Amino acid sequence: MASLGVLIIGAGLSGLTAANRLVRGLDGVDPAQVAVIERGLTVGGRLATKRIGRATLDHGAQFFTVRSDEFRREVDEWLAAGVVEEWCRGFGEVDGYPRYRVAGGMNELARYLASDLAGAGVDVATGRRVTAIRPGDQGWRIDDEEADRDGRAGRQQTITDVSALVVTPPVPLALELLEAGGTLLTPDCSSTLDGLAYHRVIALLAVLDRPPDLPAPGALQRPDDPTFTFVADNQAKGISPVPAVTFHTAHARSADLWPADDDEIVEALLPTARQMVAPAEIVELQIERWRYTGPVRSHPDPCLVATVAGVPQPGPLVFAGDGFGGSKLEGAYLSGLAAGAAVTAS
Ligand SMILES: Cc1cc2nc3c(=O)[nH]c(=O)nc-3n(C[C@H](O)[C@H](O)[C@H](O)COP(=O)(O)OP(=O)(O)OC[C@H]3O[C@@H](n4cnc5c(N)ncnc54)[C@H](O)[C@@H]3O)c2cc1C
Repeated sequence: MASLGVLIIGAGLSGLTAANRLVRGLDGVDPAQVAVIERGLTVGGRLATKRIGRATLDHGAQFFTVRSDEFRREVDEWLAAGVVEEWCRGFGEVDGYPRYRVAGGMNELARYLASDLAGAGVDVATGRRVTAIRPGDQGWRIDDEEADRDGRAGRQQTITDVSALVVTPPVPLALELLEAGGTLLTPDCSSTLDGLAYHRVIALLAVLDRPPDLPAPGALQRPDDPTFTFVADNQAKGISPVPAVTFHTAHARSADLWPADDDEIVEALLPTARQMVAPAEIVELQIERWRYTGPVRSHPDPCLVATVAGVPQPGPLVFAGDGFGGSKLEGAYLSGLAAGAAVTAS
């Protein structure tokens, strides 16, 4: 395959933001020289929305908050474009801080950003899983294969002569790609990246026969609850035409249940879920497992410019995503911005 300027692996919020920063920054790169490659059949990563029959459920990120000026400016544009809306100012207790939802479901934000990039001339390719990263003489060499809905591998390709690489999958997955290519990092970089661990979350997605009796705004946030830390009715949230509840299981409980099969997980969690939505009945139930929900502790910097060991560095290699800087969607956004800036600065 043809050579390329900057390749961004992952079309979650950080990858899409890095691409946007690269082509729209003052030091803008030619959009034809920037590409994003995503293993999923759609963009978004943990900005995930699922349909079950007539129901629509956000099953990854549920909402976001804004703390920094940079993110504020971007969110103001999304609000003006009608992509994002204020959902509420607290769950149970109103504390005055806006929580934002995405019109139509969280994944719509990623689609909006990706179609904007495509309109600017950036190639955003989905259904292509990177399998190995290795240094070449003229730049990075990236192996990838087509991935279908069930993750089955298809045609394999190699992208050569990539002058800069931004890697946004959760860090343990990103390191597997380097290992597969036999690419070694300096001991400093390796030990920093090896230390990044992520929480797991098991999500229950339940379609109901009538609205549940949850307090306004139709959601509960309970960080200390041992079973479900976040419970939201997607109909009350305004994204589903029928009542459909997302239950996020607490980190510790998710880790305990992780090795169990789906039937055992349902047996363990269903009684509590039923109680919470009663008298409504659950008419359909699905489980989603999130192996990498968010970092246990983020790296202090918003991105990491890594150095390879043993061979000449073929170009910048930037690690980004919510494992760097701050966690959550705002952290992913700021990390993407920093990664784009790091590439143009190098
Ligand atoms: C259950 C859950 C609840 C959450 N709740 C909230 C919340 O309420 N508020 C909030 O702010 N945040 C929340 N988060 C966290 C938030 O979703 C993340 O911080 C953010 O979406 C991370 O974005 P990212 O771009 O760093 O990573 P991701 O979204 O994970 O993007 C990385 C992308 O890389 C792709 N990829 C991986 N491997 C490869 C490969 N080999 N080849 C090509 N592509 C690859 C993935 O498919 C993915 O699309 C939640 C997350 C989960 C899972």
